Amino acid sequence: MERIDTQQDAQGSNENKEMPDWMHDERVLKEHLQYAFVKGCKVLGQGRVADYIPELARADTYAFGLAAQKTDGTVVSCGEVDTRFSIQSVSKVISLALALKLLGTEEVFSHVLMEPSGDSFSSIIKLDTKSDLPYNPMINAGAIQVVSLLADQVGFQDALQFARYMCMDPDVDLNEPVYRSEAQTGDRNRAIAYLLKSKGVLVADPEETLDLYFRLCALNVTAKSLATLGLVLANDGENPITSQHVIAPRHARAINSLMFTCGMYDGSGEFGVKVGIPAKSGVGGGIACSVKGRMGIGVYGPALNEKGNSVGGLAALEYLSDALHLHVFDYHPYIVEK
Ligand code: GLU
Repeated sequence: MERIDTQQDAQGSNENKEMPDWMHDERVLKEHLQYAFVKGCKVLGQGRVADYIPELARADTYAFGLAAQKTDGTVVSCGEVDTRFSIQSVSKVISLALALKLLGTEEVFSHVLMEPSGDSFSSIIKLDTKSDLPYNPMINAGAIQVVSLLADQVGFQDALQFARYMCMDPDVDLNEPVYRSEAQTGDRNRAIAYLLKSKGVLVADPEETLDLYFRLCALNVTAKSLATLGLVLANDGENPITSQHVIAPRHARAINSLMFTCGMYDGSGEFGVKVGIPAKSGVGGGIACSVKGRMGIGVYGPALNEKGNSVGGLAALEYLSDALHLHVFDYHPYIVEK
């Protein structure tokens, strides 16, 4: 590694040291987003849409969209960013945010741990053999536990309003067919809820909890709404466009941490190394990313890899992270790699 003179940039000025080009110039961000889009499109054929919830099988393998929203509110996008799709596990971020808001950090984390599980999202193994409390709120067991805390406090309409508020999208709504499809076939989640009940840790009634969990997973969002969700988290819980304090900075920090360590299923470690951005994905093909102090990125790409992450999303985000130096542990952009 060789360090180039960091005192001056190519133009001989210091002024852009803190702010990269793409933060000033929308065209630079747009250009990179377009490259990322092409990178993502190229691999869509390698993925498969989820079909364990029958209604999700109707998605188009080749649908793909990327949206980025910066802290000044500017939205830059490519592809299918207005298409509605079900949020699925990205809702785990919203339910955790609401639970933290209503109950506080201590209470919430007395019901669910903060450790990556390393297992697939719907795994029951650790819950049965290692710990009575679910490992973290980003996997099904943990999210069902968090939703049981909510089910004791709020109804679906309140949670829906909060989701709209967090995504700054009044059109977020329940996708009835997806909700019914999962409610009819979600036996694994039913098993998790009843296992939690059998251990005496589930807070609310299992059927009530599952109903709210399935409804939250079936909310219809767009890549743009996920970009705003990511932006709020990237901006310490404050929506920079409306200046509303959606959640407390301390809660945003906790959620970003859990997204970084657990948000991409059992692919979180690899994503952490290669992309290095707090992110949460869902089997509907969505990913919400929180780029600290800079922007939110929303992805829609229902072709998934074997772990449940959008293949197009992974390729696009890896490119963007490298090109725009978004990795949280990024080296100095003026260091030349040999
Ligand atoms: N509703 C889905 C389930 O519980 C969400 C899974 C996901 O997106 O990871 O199986």
